[in-house]
Amino acid sequence: MSMLQDVFSRLEGYASAVVSLQQSLVAIPALGPDNGGQGELDKALYLTEYLKGLGFAEVLRVDAPDARVASGVRPNLVAVIPGQRTDKTFWVISHTDVVPAGDLSLWKTDPFTLHVDGDTLTGRGVEDNHQGIVSSLMLAKALLESNAVPPVNFGVILVADEETGSQYGLEYVLQARPDLFRPDDLFLAPDFGNAESTMLEVAEKCILWLKITVVGKQCHASTPYQGRNTLVATADLIMRLQELYTQFPDEDPLFNPAHSTFEPTRKEENVPNVNTVPGYDVFYVDCRVLPSYSPDEVLASVRAMADVVEQARGVKIAIDIVQRTEAAPPTSPDSEIVVRLTAGIQAVYGTQAVPTGIGGGTVASFLRRRGHPCAVWATCVHNAHQPNESSSISTQLGDAKVMAHVLAHTA
Ligand SMILES: [Zn+2]
Repeated sequence: MSMLQDVFSRLEGYASAVVSLQQSLVAIPALGPDNGGQGELDKALYLTEYLKGLGFAEVLRVDAPDARVASGVRPNLVAVIPGQRTDKTFWVISHTDVVPAGDLSLWKTDPFTLHVDGDTLTGRGVEDNHQGIVSSLMLAKALLESNAVPPVNFGVILVADEETGSQYGLEYVLQARPDLFRPDDLFLAPDFGNAESTMLEVAEKCILWLKITVVGKQCHASTPYQGRNTLVATADLIMRLQELYTQFPDEDPLFNPAHSTFEPTRKEENVPNVNTVPGYDVFYVDCRVLPSYSPDEVLASVRAMADVVEQARGVKIAIDIVQRTEAAPPTSPDSEIVVRLTAGIQAVYGTQAVPTGIGGGTVASFLRRRGHPCAVWATCVHNAHQPNESSSISTQLGDAKVMAHVLAHTA
């Protein structure tokens, strides 16, 4: 029996292993300090023991110092199964942190207790990104149980801090341990996709998040001429911001959606009562800008609109950048990882994956910026960060088979 047939038949028997690993992971909510948590250490310690239990000879920990968490560190794990060639590695990168449960009343079951209903798993993190963790570890389990030596190394990376910027996660690993990676290595981040398994992400837009603070003058609502209403000025500016869509109209068919996006999102609370005109308002804008534009051009446009509103409404407007991530060079649709992944998806799911660009925000950009081609792909429904987040046992094992196919065909 070939290595691949052996691995496939082992994976088919791992449904209960998927459930029990997900059970443990869901019960350890790893929230970063920006999300009100203590980081990923407990989960990383659990996963270190799990990896050792599978038979990994060594689990490397790359700790990013972070004084905001009690342990003082944000742990990243790296574990490798040596191949026949040890100078080339197929890496699968998943993240251990999750986002908060959000409004508990919207959950049908406890978010931090795995709920199993036939093939469907529900709980915070089961898809984003436990699915990636579980798929890669089930492949590792199959390889180690069969004593298979794949043609190249199989590497598992479990990073911290993906949900709040990756500075303590993959970006830290790449800075601290560039020696782990070689130009020929293949990188897969199983952290985005669609249910049909056809979306293979190779490019991302620039991310620009703005905090806009409007300062006017508070007064009694019955005598509005005594103040300067910042909610009216905010509304005025929000409507003007819609013009960004016409000022930056480029379309690139590689991306979905094909154009840049500029969406006002969060609005902070202002006055607590109905009969006061607010004199201070804060809102946020999430911009995803195609690589054909510079985010500086977008910023200049927003500033010009804010200047007009300042004049018209007698307020002061400050624009702060909350996040700015430049668009990384895209991964070529002809790169080895995309070609091998496309073949693996075809072999396992019988579907044709299409290289696609998205709004950004995956760990792939950190690799692409350093010249490493990275594909982002998983078979999943779009319910990350939502209440009742779900994934399925069968796609976790199916995706593990695709990873096995990539590994077996890499030379
Ligand atoms: Zn994710």
